[in-house]
Amino acid sequence: MLSNLQPLSVMHWFAITNLIATALLVLLAAFTGQRAERRRNVSFILLLLAMANYSLALAFESLATDLSEAWFWSRIQYLSIPFLPSLILLVVGRFVDFPFQKPWLRAALIGCFGFSLLITILHGSSSWHELYYRDIAFTQVSGIAGVSFTPGLFYHLFDAFYFLVSAIALTLVARRAVLVHGLFRAQAIAVFIGLALPWVFALVGDLAPVSIQLDTVPIAFVPSALVLGFGVLNWGLLGLEPIVMRTVFGAIPSGCIIVDHSRRLLDCNAAAQRMFPRLAQLKTGQTIDSIYQELPGFGAVLEALKVHGQWQMWSPDNRTHFRVQLSWLEQNQMHLGYLILIQDETQQVIAETLLRERAELDGLTGVLNRSSFDEQLQLAVAENTQAETSLALILFDLDHFKGLNDTRGHQAGDEVLKAVARCAEGLIRQGDRVARYGGEEFALILPGTDTAGALVMAERLRKSIAQQTPVTASLGIALTDSENRLSPAELVLQADQALYRAKNAGRNCVEVTVVATIALQ
Ligand code: GH3
Ligand code: MG
Ligand code: MG
Repeated sequence: MLSNLQPLSVMHWFAITNLIATALLVLLAAFTGQRAERRRNVSFILLLLAMANYSLALAFESLATDLSEAWFWSRIQYLSIPFLPSLILLVVGRFVDFPFQKPWLRAALIGCFGFSLLITILHGSSSWHELYYRDIAFTQVSGIAGVSFTPGLFYHLFDAFYFLVSAIALTLVARRAVLVHGLFRAQAIAVFIGLALPWVFALVGDLAPVSIQLDTVPIAFVPSALVLGFGVLNWGLLGLEPIVMRTVFGAIPSGCIIVDHSRRLLDCNAAAQRMFPRLAQLKTGQTIDSIYQELPGFGAVLEALKVHGQWQMWSPDNRTHFRVQLSWLEQNQMHLGYLILIQDETQQVIAETLLRERAELDGLTGVLNRSSFDEQLQLAVAENTQAETSLALILFDLDHFKGLNDTRGHQAGDEVLKAVARCAEGLIRQGDRVARYGGEEFALILPGTDTAGALVMAERLRKSIAQQTPVTASLGIALTDSENRLSPAELVLQADQALYRAKNAGRNCVEVTVVATIALQ
């Protein structure tokens, strides 16, 4: 029995290969059609069906027994062949988000489809003119039936059109493959290979001697369909919407990490990998716990993965300030995982701190400036009123400072002002405030301090200035307490009056405005 089996002829192999290509393309189109994504898929499905029609009709043409049969199938093929370049351009354009909404690009695309239609018409009506095919005849190459012809003007024009448009489309995909990374590069490469294979076969076919007038393009559809099918199945090739999202995702300067509920890595962008180099070594599905080691505070945030929210933290070396934001990812009310958004806010935090300091502190001495003093005194008086304790204000002015400036120069005067500020800062307790009230006049706000305490403090300061700087100071003290409530302005006025008395008393001394009730005792 077996000996009766004839080996398959070249003709049969050719037809079978084309039928296999048809089957693969139809399967892929059906599978693609099931997917929910719309517009982009429609053009992709149309392309697959056009390719399937081409290979199917070629299979039948190769088995034809006479010219009319072969010519019939040739015309069936030409229902789709002229549209292939235009469809490829459309599919690729959608894949790389080509701005087809621009009028001139839209016009160019419509022009391509118009030209495709013209070629179909010219081919089908070849018997009436010589614009596409001349001298149409039946031929068999190695038993494979077909139509032989002499190419007309539009045959060459279509040839050029096919190669040019395909080349543009392939360049766009290649550019995409270079620009994107990871899964999306794999997608772009799959699309490139899928579309380039038939193009290369067509090119080789065109360069081959005319004697081999075999159309091998649909043969390339077999590997093409396999590569595209692999892409569809494994890389969500038709989930092409994310291409734009992906580009955005990659370009976001904040680190984005997507994890499932068990903190297994689903995706992360380049910024996240720069922040946490370990991420780059992790594979999808591995837990991201190992980046705890890079940023210990981050561990606590991840532990709290049950809530939306944001946290701020410094890295252990205090060099980077992170803001971490957590969001649930949900689809159809199912909780899929989390998006962890990490922003490096170091520059911002440093700039804010500097600005705040600049606004609050005196540029020369680094103690509070006049406006902060006013604010702080207001606060301290209000708090003191609530707490029912006493609050002391010491105003002090350097003695004969003008003389020091005149003899040693302004710069030396500045150094003395700084030294005086350091003296005051060295003596105060936590909660006390030092401010530069004006020129060479300073103020100390001492919450919870009574007359005796303020006198001790003022005396210490007077001595410290006299010892540590080339100048002396005169100090005036005023107090507010539950017996004698003063407003901030009254407090300043009384301290100033005490200071004036200290100047009059010979300078380098302390005067205090004693409240009448205390003075009577
Ligand atoms: P008195 O004992 O009566 O206070 O005498 P005085 O010379 O200190 O008083 P006066 O108010 O006449 O002089 C204050 C001087 O302080 C005049 C001004 O040039 C100087 N001064 C004010 N601000 C600064 C500053 O930022 N740097 C320097 N070097 N000098 C300053
Ligand atoms: Mg002075
Ligand atoms: Mg003064």
